[in-house]
Formats: sequence, structure tokens, C-alpha cells
Amino acid sequence: MSIKSTVARPVRIGRLTVGGGAPVRVQGMTKTRTADLKATRLELEALAAAGAELVRLAVKDEEDLAAFARLKSISRLPLVADIHFRGDLALGALAAGADKVRLNPGNLDDPVRLAEIIRLARRKGAAIRIGVNSGSLPGGPGEPVSGLETARLMVRTAAAYLENFETLDFHNLVVSLKSSSVPVTLAANRLFRRHFDYPLHLGVTEAGRGGPALVKSSIGIGALLADGIGETLRVSLSGPAVEEVAAGRWILQALELRNFQPELISCPTCGRCRSDLFSILDRVEDGLKRLPGYPERYAGFKVAVMGCEVNGPGEAAAADIGVACGGKRGLLFRKGRVVERPPAAGLAEALLAELSRLNPGPVKRESNGDHPIKTKPKRGGTSNRRRK
Ligand code: SF4
Repeated sequence: MSIKSTVARPVRIGRLTVGGGAPVRVQGMTKTRTADLKATRLELEALAAAGAELVRLAVKDEEDLAAFARLKSISRLPLVADIHFRGDLALGALAAGADKVRLNPGNLDDPVRLAEIIRLARRKGAAIRIGVNSGSLPGGPGEPVSGLETARLMVRTAAAYLENFETLDFHNLVVSLKSSSVPVTLAANRLFRRHFDYPLHLGVTEAGRGGPALVKSSIGIGALLADGIGETLRVSLSGPAVEEVAAGRWILQALELRNFQPELISCPTCGRCRSDLFSILDRVEDGLKRLPGYPERYAGFKVAVMGCEVNGPGEAAAADIGVACGGKRGLLFRKGRVVERPPAAGLAEALLAELSRLNPGPVKRESNGDHPIKTKPKRGGTSNRRRK
């Protein structure tokens, strides 16, 4: 079982390729004031350590622009300058080496300035993201319309804006169509992908915080990815920047599109469980984190911790390694075979010892050319930017 991606043209963002069968990229966003060089640099480093593959920074004035230029000169990640209202800042960011600028058609509509930006982006080999947000469509808030009508309006807005770029033969473009409504986000992105092959950057905007925000983003981003739509993503959380990156990676791993860490399969426990499963789980999780090479070496490796002899043996046997609790003793499975019957008190330790003997490498899921994503043959050429 695998997810088939739709075809998106490849777009270069610094050293990264987005679309064209490349792995879905996880974007981060700094939340510091960009002009605060020290704080922003620290956050950039934290985002890189958390696994962000490109990072967006707000550039809202000259001080931010100066800091962006400095950060660009030292960052090992591609940087995206987020620009609103001021085309001169987009030009400045491109001159400073921005790998991508993100523009909002709702607030940057001077055609002469836009043409300057496009020409400079082409000269610098930079990408441009057209970010359409349901909350800032051109014309401002009008009469309330249905969700579907909002989605159509978002796609029409993106299409009209794209024409400005296509007229100047610029195609190194990424598009995002975001709403705080999951159904509107889904409808807009699905409609766009029916007509255009530009890579889509996914997100449910202003998703909120905590569990509800994670659920909204997982459904909004996950449903599109499950349809094979989406080439980059950023989870929007009212919370620390690194948590957005972690959530994005969890979504990709849950869909088996990419692997970043071992996957823990554990039962919820019920009245049949006669062991302290949560304590076993805690010890397994802690022990995993201490294993050499964690998490990359164990990426995609399935570790099961199950509470009883009902579903336990089946799940534990299906995992790469797993335990099923019983009464005084449990079962330890390795690649589907029972290898030990450890005492209940030592189940976690037996699993970890067996795991270190197993010496796995990461389960590779990094490219459309590999399992599990298969890309349909691409009809090449710029004439394919709009689907007929
Ligand atoms: S595996 Fe056993 S203990 Fe766990 S939820 Fe299922 S039936 Fe209950």
C-alpha cells in the first residue's frame, strides 16, 4: 500500500528541490523578531536541529532585512523571506541571497515593482512562493460566502497572480492556499492541483494550539498528502517553532511518506491488561533515546509494546521488534518470531537488549523513486504549468 503523488514540477529552493518527485519538505518558521540577530540565529539553529529543511523569516522593515542578509550568510538551510506590502524589501531580500521570497497577492499588487522582483529572482536563481490566504484575499473582507466559494476565490486569486509571473516566463514558483478552515484548505488545494502543476506548500493557517491545532493540521495537511497533493508543508501552531517541525515530521511519518524516527506501536490498555504497560512504555521510550544513532539509525523501525495476549502477539509479531505482556511472563518477538519469554518486570529491558543486538539501519523512504511513493510519468516542459 503506498501513496501515489500527483505530478508537480521540480522547483529549486537553494540546494533543495521541491516537487518533481523529491521528498515532501518540512519547513520551519522563526518566531523571533528577525532584527534580533542573536535570538533569531539561536532559533534557526534549533529549527535545523529539529529537522527543518528550509526556514521562513519575516522581513517587515530595514532592520529585519539587514539581519536577514547576515543570517543568510551563515545559515546552512535555505532561507525564505516573508514579505508583505513592501516590494522594496523583496528586492532587498533577493539581493541578500534569499532562496525564496513569499509574496501575498492580497497586499503586493504594483505590477512594475512585481516585474522588478521577478527579474531579480530569475537573475539570482531564487524561487517565489505565492501565498494566498483566505483571510487576506484582494479586496478585503466582503460579503460572507460559502466555504467552496472561498476556495474557488482563492484559486482564482492564485491563477490571476500566476499570470503575472508566466507572462514574464518565470516558473520557479511554489503556491500555498491556506485557510484556518480545514474544508476550505482541502477544497482550494484540490481544485488548484486539478489545473496547475506548481508545487504546493501545505498548511492550515492559524490552527491554534495544543491538541486541537495538531488535529486540524494533521487532517488538513494529511488528507491532501494522502491524495498525493503537497510538496512542502509547515504546521502552524501557537507554540514553539520547533514543535511545528516535529508535528510536520510526524504527519509525514504517519503517512509512511518519510521516516525520521522509530515508530512506537502501543495499545491503549484495557481491563485485560495485567501489567503496568505505561511504565514499560516509558522505559522503552527512554531506552530508545539512549541507543547509539537514535533516532536516524532506527528511523521507520517498528517497536510494539502490547498489553495482553489478545491482540498483543499479532501486533508484536508484525513489528520489527515487540513485546506482548501476559501474566508473570511476556513474549518478546523479533521479526515475527518469539525469541524469549522474559519476566514481566524485565520486558522493557529485554526488548532494548534485543534491539541493540538487531543493529538496524534506517528504513529508507526518502524519494518518489523509492518505496512507497511512485510518481506518474511527468509530461515535461513549461507548457505543463497549467493542466489542460
Ligand atoms: S492489547 Fe490487550 S490489553 Fe491492550 S487494549 Fe488490546 S485487549 Fe486490551
